[in-house]
Amino acid sequence: MRIVLLGAPGAGKGTQCKYIVEKYRLLHLSSGDILRRHRAQGTALGKKAQSYMDSGALVPDDIIIDMMIDEIARAPAGGYVLDGFPRTVKQAADLDKALESKKQKIDAILNLQVNEKIIVRRITGRRICPKCAAVYHVENLKPRVDGKCDKDGSLLLQRPDDTAEVVITRLKNYNEQTAPLVDYYKRKNTVFDIDANEEAENVRDLIFRKLAPLA
Ligand SMILES: [Zn+2]
Repeated sequence: MRIVLLGAPGAGKGTQCKYIVEKYRLLHLSSGDILRRHRAQGTALGKKAQSYMDSGALVPDDIIIDMMIDEIARAPAGGYVLDGFPRTVKQAADLDKALESKKQKIDAILNLQVNEKIIVRRITGRRICPKCAAVYHVENLKPRVDGKCDKDGSLLLQRPDDTAEVVITRLKNYNEQTAPLVDYYKRKNTVFDIDANEEAENVRDLIFRKLAPLA
């Protein structure tokens, strides 16, 4: 099974990814993780990407496409979940071309949809332990003592990016970029719009029901 997982920052993509790869024994291919690995290992591709990032630019489409298509070519036959890729119509079209040459295609696109207010509440309520990186939430995942880490008692912090203004801008950018991608996929693939406003377990069950006929 080959799956593309789409979802705005804060839509719970990471959590759902974990559920899906465990249940269906798929490989999790996160473009962010793979790029970090290339940079850490100092590969030719990693160095090229780094030079863009050092100058504050986005890593160009072509580099990401080559990197991911190479990764996908080496993925086991069982399949994978793509996370963070494709992000543009160009990336999706190039991915399709590469898959078609092997008579393959993406089986399902899971489009996690979350209400803006809910994402803002999820992200602005997040608190991080600076010492052990544990993540809490002021409403949904409270520490035992207000404002302090359960494990080491450190004072919990809010990430500077986790403010309503930053979240709303990120969401706007995401929607602008992703809407054409969803349209592209709706013309030729199976797109499941998933209501991701609920608790993670309920969203998971909804996804499993959609994927069951494909498994
Ligand atoms: Zn801690």
